[in-house]
Amino acid sequence: MIIEDEESIVTLVKYNLEKEGYKVFSNSNGEKALEHIKEIAPDLILLDWMLPNLSGIEICKILKTEKKHKHIPIIMLTAKGEEEDKIRGLNSGADDYITKPFSHKELIARVNALLRRVNPSVSEDIVEYEDLKVDRIERKVFREKKEIKLGPTEFKLLNFLIKNPKRVYSREQLLENIWSDNINVENRTIDVHIRRLRQAININSKKNYIRTVRSAGYALD
Ligand code: CA
Repeated sequence: MIIEDEESIVTLVKYNLEKEGYKVFSNSNGEKALEHIKEIAPDLILLDWMLPNLSGIEICKILKTEKKHKHIPIIMLTAKGEEEDKIRGLNSGADDYITKPFSHKELIARVNALLRRVNPSVSEDIVEYEDLKVDRIERKVFREKKEIKLGPTEFKLLNFLIKNPKRVYSREQLLENIWSDNINVENRTIDVHIRRLRQAININSKKNYIRTVRSAGYALD
């Protein structure tokens, strides 16, 4: 997620990150951004320093004190090149910072590096959870080394859940991250795809990997 009030920067960053295969959400308002973060649980936040009402530093401090959000890596975007400001940014809990104007190659390199550092399973080509393996390049799924055929939505679901095993995602979060182009998806539809995914990956195995958490959502567990 990018939190930035300069539209031209948002457009460019979005364009470049989407080209890399990332899904990008944007917010120009700090308070709205905090609400949106709760809804979608982003993997990383690009946070502008100078924002109307809530500043980037304040947003960073708030997120880093919340148990649910403090693990989300933050890169501060700042026009300030002063040493003191960089230190202030890092002290408020930011994981990295990048000074404007920045090259998009540098931004992408920083994003990739930070994601790899905090959560290797977000950016790796092949990601494994116990005997389950997702090959993102060939879009193939294996359990106990046997290939499992999944439909496109089931693949997206598994690919999303395996980024953070054990973490519970609400239906709203799954909807935002997997079906965001389709506003007419009902909870029932999500449940149907979860059921299909569960049937496919749990075949011939004793362990059920998709856990239903009552009134909360689903987790790969
Ligand atoms: Ca700004």
